[in-house]
Amino acid sequence: MTGSATDIQATVFDIQSFSLNDGPGIRTVVFFKGCPLHCRWCHNPESLSKTSQLIFHKTLCVGCLQCVAACPNGVHRAVLEDGRYQHVVHLESCTGCGFCLQVCCYDALTLVGRKYTPAGLLERIRGDFRYFNVETGDNGRKGGITFSGGEPMLYADFIVGFRNLMPEIHCAMETSGFATREVVSRIAPLIDLFLFDYKVTDPARHRELCGVDNVQILENLDYLYGIGKEIVLRLPLIPGVNDTADHFDGIAGLLKKYPGIKQAEIMPYHTYGLGKSEELGKEADPLLPKSAATDETVARWLAELRDRGCTNVYQS
Ligand code: SF4
Ligand code: SF4
Repeated sequence: MTGSATDIQATVFDIQSFSLNDGPGIRTVVFFKGCPLHCRWCHNPESLSKTSQLIFHKTLCVGCLQCVAACPNGVHRAVLEDGRYQHVVHLESCTGCGFCLQVCCYDALTLVGRKYTPAGLLERIRGDFRYFNVETGDNGRKGGITFSGGEPMLYADFIVGFRNLMPEIHCAMETSGFATREVVSRIAPLIDLFLFDYKVTDPARHRELCGVDNVQILENLDYLYGIGKEIVLRLPLIPGVNDTADHFDGIAGLLKKYPGIKQAEIMPYHTYGLGKSEELGKEADPLLPKSAATDETVARWLAELRDRGCTNVYQS
């Protein structure tokens, strides 16, 4: 069921202006909160839950304990250790009310996730319109908005509402491709460019690493290609996890099957997600590399794919 234009809301965890890497031209990227996948290497762990979440920046906390009395749920506690009260947090009990933020004078607490209506988001980014028409790059293409996440397909009603307000702006979507066909077919006419993730080739391994297999994802890719949408494949590179011969074969097979996909972009792994997981009170996945993908690893991927005839793969 769809809501009216005034009661549709989406939870957004970040808005980045002046982005040059998420579609043509200069763009504003809107990061929606919530994702049906749980990729073990996710560099935005704050995007996984649809609800607002508290982030505790341990290094900024001075232990003043002002937050202890402010929290109605016992998330912040004063624990006596060695004759001195220490600040201890239990983030699993947090409801995201935001009371503790109001008393912390040291920026040690952040609430991630803010609700917007389509009109509210439009007002928030209206100042960015000034650069959407600037022609950039080798093709002189203009910019626009990119919906990212999390998984923006979770917010189909919101996107329909937003596009009804702003149909003329170029709109890209970065997506895992995991959504029902009903959602994909409703959103497809509203999106000019899909930045479509291709993470792992083997379905069982995809399920193991991302929480779902890739059957529906590939069916949606086939559908979008079939109706003529512009698609860029995005290839997360996780050293020791998905840099396998069968995955290189899978990428090459897709690019051969869909020659209208003009470009694929390698997205090298970095370690930002590890620190963020800690701030969210989660333990880092032991599977993950402790250091970022090197230039040598990226070069090896490019060479593997060139060997398989892929001439349109680049590093993002
Ligand atoms: S956001 Fe609310 S529930 Fe969460 S820690 Fe702060 S005061 Fe407690
Ligand atoms: S109010 Fe802020 S600085 Fe003080 S103990 Fe709480 S989180 Fe730390």
